[in-house]
Amino acid sequence: MSVGLLVFCLRSLYREYGVAFLRRVMLAHPLATLRGMVHFLRQPPARAAAWQGGAGSLVGVGFCLKPLTPACPSGRANHDCAFFESNPQLDEGAWPAPCRDCLIRVIGRQALAGASTLYVMTSAQDILFDVLLPALEARRFSRALLTICRFSFEPIRLALAIAGVEAQLIPFVHGDCREYATWRRADIGDKPEQTTLEQADVRELQETLSRSALHASPPGRFRKSRHLFEPV
Ligand code: SF4
Repeated sequence: MSVGLLVFCLRSLYREYGVAFLRRVMLAHPLATLRGMVHFLRQPPARAAAWQGGAGSLVGVGFCLKPLTPACPSGRANHDCAFFESNPQLDEGAWPAPCRDCLIRVIGRQALAGASTLYVMTSAQDILFDVLLPALEARRFSRALLTICRFSFEPIRLALAIAGVEAQLIPFVHGDCREYATWRRADIGDKPEQTTLEQADVRELQETLSRSALHASPPGRFRKSRHLFEPV
C-alpha cells in the first residue's frame, strides 16, 4: 500500500464517506475487507483483463466529463443525462448541441450496445451506496470500467476489490484532480474544469466496448433507476 493511499484513507476518516465506508463496509464485512485487501495488494495493473459487458457490468463516467460550453442540459454535479433520459434513437441532427461531442454520450451508447449499466459518477459517498454496497451485499456488479482521475486510482481499486468488483480504470488527462484538496472540492460538486481523456485511450475504450457489444444481445434503451442507467 502506497503512502499516498494511506494518507488518503487517514484524511477520509474525518469525512462522511470515510465513516460510512468504515461502518457499512469494513466493520460490517470484515472477511470481504480482508480478502479485498489481499487481492488489491496482489492484483495486476488496471485494464489487464478482457472486458465483458452484460449483466454485472458497470461503465462509469465522471460527471466532470460533461461539457461546459455549451453546457450539459442536465446540469453538472449530478447523475443525470438528458440524452439517455429522453430518446437516444433521435436522428443525430436532433441531438442537443452539447450532446454531440460529449464523451458521456459516446461511451454511454457503447455501454448500452454491450448491455452494461451506465453510471454518471459524482461523490465517493454515492459510489458507496450506488455501486459498492450493492456489489458487496447483493452481487449486483462484478466488473467496472471507469473513467476517473489518476489520483483516485488506488482508493477506488481498493474499494472495488473489497466489494468483489474487478476494475478497469481509464485516467483523465486534462482538468483532473491531482491532490486531495481539489479532489475533495470535486467530491462535493465544486468542479469548474471539464476533464478529458487521451485520444488513444478513447479509441481503446471504444474498441473494448465494441468487442463486448459483439457478444451481447443489444438492449434498445436505458431506463433510469435511481442514479443508474439500466439497459432494457
Ligand atoms: S450526452 Fe452529455 S451533454 Fe448531453 S445530456 Fe448527457 S451528459 Fe449532458
